[in-house]
Formats: sequence, structure tokens, C-alpha cells
Amino acid sequence: MNIQVPKSFGPQKSVFKVLRIAGLILLSVVSQAAVCKEHSWYRYESPYFIANSNASHKKTLAILTRLEMFRVAVSQVANLRVPASAVKTEVLILRTRKEFKELGLGRNTGAYAVQHDGKFLIVMPASGDRSMQMQIICHEYSHVLLGYSKFDFPRWYNEGFAELSSTIRFIDKDTAFTFGEPPPGLAYASDNHFDWNTLISEGWDNSSLRAQEVHNAYMESWLLAHYVTLGDDFKNTPKLHQYFELIEAGQSSLDAFEQAFGMDGNELWVRKLRRYNERLFALVYDFRTNDLHTDFQRSDSDPEAVLLLLEEQKKYNSSND
Ligand SMILES: [Zn+2]
Repeated sequence: MNIQVPKSFGPQKSVFKVLRIAGLILLSVVSQAAVCKEHSWYRYESPYFIANSNASHKKTLAILTRLEMFRVAVSQVANLRVPASAVKTEVLILRTRKEFKELGLGRNTGAYAVQHDGKFLIVMPASGDRSMQMQIICHEYSHVLLGYSKFDFPRWYNEGFAELSSTIRFIDKDTAFTFGEPPPGLAYASDNHFDWNTLISEGWDNSSLRAQEVHNAYMESWLLAHYVTLGDDFKNTPKLHQYFELIEAGQSSLDAFEQAFGMDGNELWVRKLRRYNERLFALVYDFRTNDLHTDFQRSDSDPEAVLLLLEEQKKYNSSND
């Protein structure tokens, strides 16, 4: 099989240091005026997405365009492409946070994604903290893109790559984008780190760990993904390929890692990653738009299909409390 993993990293325009931002993401809780007017649902379709939205045309297009730009940017830096046979990713956009929360969601959920019957659905409100929502859905959509390779990536890489991609930021009037900026809110307690070899060999189970440990596991996954993707002037890319090939040939993740990188995770932390973490950088890429499809076709939504979708989400969220 053909493993699609980061291969070619396009020409970089410049390299700049990014200040690492520590702190929690604070959700802006938007107070909503009572909604008394029914808002119409519209369906939007492009070669890669099908969306249903009752938000304004302008807001819906802004969200979908950003998601499509993200798809193209990730394809560009990581050589991850949507196969022609892929089912289109579905998006459900609700006009207000109030309507979004009425799907049975907790106060702190900004956006979410579900995968069922081979389909992928992203659910989000059109109001609220847009940059945080986009970061969440871009993280989730990265999993979709990785999933197309049909290779069972180790958890650290799956989550690390999703975190790494989720901070792609378009700049210079969308003619360029950054890659490698640290996710806001991921403050790393390096004096109390999650065991690197456990991270590489088994991953982690959110439910059995304390919040800080989960936080550290994500942060380490991001740092390791950053290092193997962008570090040492891209010299790690062939090692990363070898690592995946060894896993595919039946080796355990940790054995494959040691063989490909010449040391285990804990040694890599001491010899490389600790210093790397103190001198982080992001890259700027020119944004290539030859495969950008922002021509979303709008039509009336099928009311019954939308109703069913909303009911399914309420059921799904109540079973995940
Ligand atoms: Zn994830």
C-alpha cells in the first residue's frame, strides 16, 4: 500500500521565531438574544464538502472557504490528498451558539466532529470564537486527511500532526501561510513530562489520566511531530518514512522508532527535544491555489434530512455525556 506521509515540504519564504504562548483558551460565551425567527437552511456543495447551514450566506461561505483553504495547505506541505473515491466530508453549521448548544453540548464545546458509517461530519456554530472553532475543526479534518492513507498511524503522530496542522494561519492577504506555530493553550510542563516511550509505544487513554497528563501527552505529540516533520533541516523525514515502514512490516512502534531514529523517545528528549523545545520556529509557505475549490454551489436543504441530522446529533451527544 501507498503510505501518504509528509514527503515534500515546499519552498519556504522565510523562517521566523514564534513566541510560545502559554495559557488556557478562554471561551467567549456569547449571550444570544432570543431566537424567534425561523432561519432557512441551505445546502452547499463543492468537490470535497457538503454542508448544511442556517447561518448567513456570508458567514457560511467564510467558514467553508477557510476549511477548503486548510485542505489545500495541508495537501501542499504534507502531500496528503483526498482520493477521488472519497466520500465528501459533511459540515453542519448552526447560526448561533444557542442552537449549537441545544444539540446537548456542554458550555465549553466550541465545535466537534463525528465519524460514522464511513462518513465524517463536522458540527460547529457560526458565532463565537471563530479562530478557536477553526482550530478545532482543522485538527479534526487533519485526522480525516491522515485517515485516507489507510495506514494506522501511532496515536502520537495522529494527534501530533493534527495539532501541528491546526495552527496553519493564512497571512499576506491569503497569499501565504504559516506552518509550525505552537497551538495556543498547550503549555508544556516539561519537568513533569509524560513518559516518551509510553507515548510512542502505547499512546494514552484520556479517561485514565489526569488533565495535566493528557495535556502533556498532546503537547509532546505536537513537539515530536514538529521535530520529525520540520526539525534538523528536514533530515528526519526519511527516518519518519522508515519508522512507518517498519511498523507496517510488523514491528512494534517503539522498536521501529529506535531503529529509525537511532534512539528511543526518552533519549531523544534528553539529547535533542529538550533544546529543540526552547528554540521553536515556524515556516512560511507560498499558498498555491491551483487546486482550490471555493465555488460552493448553494441550494435549498432537504428539511427532513436536516431534521434527521439534528436529531442524530442530539442522540449522539446525549450518549456521550
Ligand atoms: Zn485529535
